[in-house]
Amino acid sequence: MNPQSAGSSEYGHNPNSFGFDLHHTDAQSAARRATLHTPRGAVDLPTFMPVGTLGTVKGLDMERVQETGAQIVLANTYHLALRPGDETVAALGELHEFTGWSGPILTDSGGFQVFSLAERAQVTEQGVTFRSHIDGALLDISPERSIAIQEKLGSDIVMAFDHVVELPNEPAVVAEATWRSVRWAERCRRAARRDDQMLLAIVQGGLDSELRRQCSRELVKMDFAGYAIGGLSVGEEPVEMVRTLDATVPELPTDRPRYLMGVGRPEDLLEGVARGIDMFDCVMPTRNGRNAMVFTDEGPLRLRNAVHEHDRRPLDSACPCLACRHSRGYLRHLFQAKEMLGPILASLHNLTYYQRLMADARSAIEQDSFMAFREEKLSRWKAGPIEYVCP
Ligand SMILES: [Zn+2]
Repeated sequence: MNPQSAGSSEYGHNPNSFGFDLHHTDAQSAARRATLHTPRGAVDLPTFMPVGTLGTVKGLDMERVQETGAQIVLANTYHLALRPGDETVAALGELHEFTGWSGPILTDSGGFQVFSLAERAQVTEQGVTFRSHIDGALLDISPERSIAIQEKLGSDIVMAFDHVVELPNEPAVVAEATWRSVRWAERCRRAARRDDQMLLAIVQGGLDSELRRQCSRELVKMDFAGYAIGGLSVGEEPVEMVRTLDATVPELPTDRPRYLMGVGRPEDLLEGVARGIDMFDCVMPTRNGRNAMVFTDEGPLRLRNAVHEHDRRPLDSACPCLACRHSRGYLRHLFQAKEMLGPILASLHNLTYYQRLMADARSAIEQDSFMAFREEKLSRWKAGPIEYVCP
């Protein structure tokens, strides 16, 4: 990258490998067109990252994932640490060789899963003790251990270990977890050893705008390579998510990537992009696909519905994916007959739909027409736009 270019920055331990170029900010919103540079390739931002929980994007081999337009995938530290174990992944050539994905990989820290999946999680300042949701084994994880696991996994982007609490919750509980997450982020930063990984911090704070702002400021002082917004998409109203973004994003530096974790629906992606978010991940396209729900510009279709039985049209005549070479009637039949090809094709279509949405969003930002693009998509999805508040 050209270090002289406007809006670019270099950070981390290896300035030749990681970088962030901000190319353009939309004239009517905070939406931004940028590029994230990694040693394993560049990622056009804003981007959507398919979720490969256990080292596989469920149902799809990595060539198929790449064909959807994905440039970066996510893998889950908690799940891989339990099965097959980070030592085994390391012995099999780390995540890239293990999975066959040669592009950038982001691993989460395990924080969200420890607090949502594990049984009887006990938190102390040192870390968390919990029982595996698979076999009940007693395990512990700390900021240092999370970083060590992610270093064994060999991902390109690693996340700080955070304390995630359920929402809604007592303000004191949310505040305590937020400030613990800030202290843990500092410990992660000190623990990180590899110069071929970039570490992102996670802003917490529940739905408390002031706490979100304070948390952001403390993390920004520590000068991380990028910032994530965590603890959202946990059942709050969409308007609450938007309000939290409006409080948080303006606190984050413009020359670093911003990642909204675990979000979401297509309309949530566009609301995030409008507010200056660069990266998203969510299991929705694959999970819904496995359950016979596919995304289209006219809103979601439920393929099991009888209305599709004799329908010869593809899901989307403009979609280049393999599923769209077939009729809606055939895809419905696959689900009715419980053929494994049904979930595979629906997952492939949904991931392709998300990647095309983000590619179109990038073009719209470049042309200063993102807000018109957003309005058109929202009205066709019949979602009803959430009022946009300029941050
Ligand atoms: Zn398709």
